[in-house]
Amino acid sequence: MGLLEAGVAVVHGKLVENFRMPSAEDAYYETLIVPGFSDGHAHPQVVDGGLRDGRLWRDSYDWLERRELAVDEARVRRDLSISQRLATLSLLRGLLEGTTLMALTGRLLANVKALLSLRRRPRAVLLPTVMDRAGWTLEEVREDYARASYLVSDGLARMGIFVHSLRLAGESTVREAIRIAARSGAVLGLHLGEGVSEGERFRAIFGNPPYSLRIVPVHCIDDDMSSLGLSCVACPATNVMLYGRTRRDLSGISAFGSDWPLLIGTTPVHLPLMIKAYRDSPLLILRSATVGGYRLYNVPHDGDYVAYDESLEEVLRGRASPRLVVVNGEAAVREGRLVEGGHDRESLLKMIEETIGEALELYGNGYSASRILREHQEAFSRWAEWQGSP
Ligand SMILES: [Zn+2]
Repeated sequence: MGLLEAGVAVVHGKLVENFRMPSAEDAYYETLIVPGFSDGHAHPQVVDGGLRDGRLWRDSYDWLERRELAVDEARVRRDLSISQRLATLSLLRGLLEGTTLMALTGRLLANVKALLSLRRRPRAVLLPTVMDRAGWTLEEVREDYARASYLVSDGLARMGIFVHSLRLAGESTVREAIRIAARSGAVLGLHLGEGVSEGERFRAIFGNPPYSLRIVPVHCIDDDMSSLGLSCVACPATNVMLYGRTRRDLSGISAFGSDWPLLIGTTPVHLPLMIKAYRDSPLLILRSATVGGYRLYNVPHDGDYVAYDESLEEVLRGRASPRLVVVNGEAAVREGRLVEGGHDRESLLKMIEETIGEALELYGNGYSASRILREHQEAFSRWAEWQGSP
């Protein structure tokens, strides 16, 4: 048995200097984060957010209705091969950025296949998206759900159902989703309050706490769900990129999501934006960005950590690359490279661009992957420098 030492560690959001813990081998790192980062909301099949010319939307329904995507999203998701590769790349990008838990919405079968194709992977919560639209109905998702529940019973992944939103899923769909999730011990996630207050509508359908299952609302820009006994996954990066605003304090929020991992990276690279957006202390933000997501989804975190050769300040600037990423006691990243496959972040980003390019060639309107990635990166960077008022 060896000893892993770190100049500074952040353990469950608490700062510990000269940290030591038993490990398979002796090693010293400047900074250690325990557990690793959680990305509580990620759409791995999103290859365009429709951001053009700095335009902002009123709320998520306005965005869904009026955005002009460079790609036919429904067809991308129907293409199992490309959807699976996009999910695999999302998971691997997460690992290289220090994300050890990811909650994946979108196409369930593609996400499960991606998970099962990797021996070294982040822990995952599988939240197939359900809404009353062809290709997304509960009936259609149900069969895959039963198969996936059986396949992922290995402790590293857990099941959930993601009701897209209270306007795109009717009350009977929501009630049936609640029933299935409650019966199978799954989490129920949903977009809520994404630019428009939906707390009252939520209460009308779900009633008052305590609830018969674990409910995870996502975004909650306009609703503080703590009054209903719930905690939210906030996505501050896409909130500001789409709507120009986000909550300014962490009340009612206990985890973060990236929303678009392939376009703007996973939560650890959003840290500078979070630190600008929230008035709370960086350690509180780090607690939500790490153990917060694990607790919200009730996922174990034993043997999950991320180690850096750089200072904690660099980690908070979102610029540090983890040297070592460990999930369930097994290294998934060593010396900044994936243990399985050997890619570093730069070569993985190249693969992401190629695969998005392929999706655009098949189902797009002529935009190039480099243009879309540049537009989203630029919007993200602009907001990461954001000093705005609430
Ligand atoms: Zn979302």
